[in-house]
Amino acid sequence: MFAAHSKQILLLFHFSVFSIVSFGEAYFLTMDGAGIDLYEILEVEHGASKDEIRKAYRKAALASHPDKVPEAEREAAEIKFKAVQQAYDILYDEDKRHLYDTHGMSAFDGSGNPGMGGGPDLDDILAQMFGGMGGMGGMPGHGGGGRRPPKPRKSPDEETKYEVSLEDLYKGKTVKFASTKNVICGLCKGKGGKDKAVAKECSTCGGQGYKEVLRQMGPMLTSSMAPCTVCDGQGSFFATKDKCKKCKGKKVTEEKKMLEIYIPRGAKEGDRVVLEGEADQVPDQEPGDIVFHLVETEHPIFRRAGPDLTADLEITLAEALAGFSRVVLKHLDGRGIEITHPKKPGDVLSPGQVLKIPGEGMPLKKSDARGDLYLIVDIKFPDKDWTPSPETLEKLREILPKSTQPPITTESVDEVDYESDADIEAFGQGDPRGGSGWQDDDEEGEPAQCATQ
Ligand SMILES: [Zn+2]
Ligand SMILES: [Zn+2]
Repeated sequence: MFAAHSKQILLLFHFSVFSIVSFGEAYFLTMDGAGIDLYEILEVEHGASKDEIRKAYRKAALASHPDKVPEAEREAAEIKFKAVQQAYDILYDEDKRHLYDTHGMSAFDGSGNPGMGGGPDLDDILAQMFGGMGGMGGMPGHGGGGRRPPKPRKSPDEETKYEVSLEDLYKGKTVKFASTKNVICGLCKGKGGKDKAVAKECSTCGGQGYKEVLRQMGPMLTSSMAPCTVCDGQGSFFATKDKCKKCKGKKVTEEKKMLEIYIPRGAKEGDRVVLEGEADQVPDQEPGDIVFHLVETEHPIFRRAGPDLTADLEITLAEALAGFSRVVLKHLDGRGIEITHPKKPGDVLSPGQVLKIPGEGMPLKKSDARGDLYLIVDIKFPDKDWTPSPETLEKLREILPKSTQPPITTESVDEVDYESDADIEAFGQGDPRGGSGWQDDDEEGEPAQCATQ
């Protein structure tokens, strides 16, 4: 529809207009009536997983962070930065993403909730922003006399990964940590100025907090609204002598606080642990949450699938044949797991045989039930240090069962030599089409062009 270049300009324009209203959640305006592509903003595929979206968000947010770019590019970066955050807000939330996928941006009204469809009208928004009758906000405590853009009701959540060992997921864990966050200044209660002082209207933006910026973009001149840098988008500020002594007019101060999260036993990769209201405080907004996304670290012994655990049961050839009774494993809570084999005389264990121990898997959340533990028999055959005498070997031959295979009869027989330490990776290397003829099971079904990766 558009050439790449003009599309870029259009996108920028979208970001710009969008930035006016971004404080009131996602409002994307379009010149052509079509929605902007949130996936494009984050540079992810339409089928991207939550994890990919999170990663892309991190990358994009870092790249466009206003503090990280030269002064001249800051305004554009702020706009992009906000667009990236909004795109993430919608795409990371499964419900919002579904709405967006099915209805586009028209599914979102100013409250960030699904609306009746039909994109917002530019005039409406400008009226809401600057006209005073805030249809969008309409909340008490929204200072500024209706001249400022509406603010979100909640400050942004802080999302962070938290790595947990399988032991801690098995037993449950309380984690204490110190967190530094912005809190509303206790002296001025978030006003930013001294008790009786009155904030002066910002003359740069005429008190609007935003100003129009004209930008030459290739052949097009675009007009956009950007936050006023003099008043920080507030529309007013206190004179130096009137600023609150404690917060220096910033309305918030940093506070160190000890926080505690509890990871319940049985929790798993991807679970969220939420500390409600512990994100940075912003005046006139409910504080957002700190959200921990649990990441299970790899365990040297156990592997987990849902409530079940599996581990290798390493035994000697003698144990496989003659049995054993010993602690074979240290469980995640430190207990020894003892096994006596065989249960019935004469039973031998084979390589790859699986022993299931009911109830020794992971605990289930909020329940006394547990998954099962699967032990996979791994027989350690004697190595080079084992030098049995010919008599011993003869005895073994006598004791162990004879082959039950019928002899192979052929017309001719070649006696051949062999290497006893070959590598299966070498199998197929002589194939002129290149690559190993040895294929892992999980490569099957991949497109052919990926096979060389
Ligand atoms: Zn203060
Ligand atoms: Zn200003």
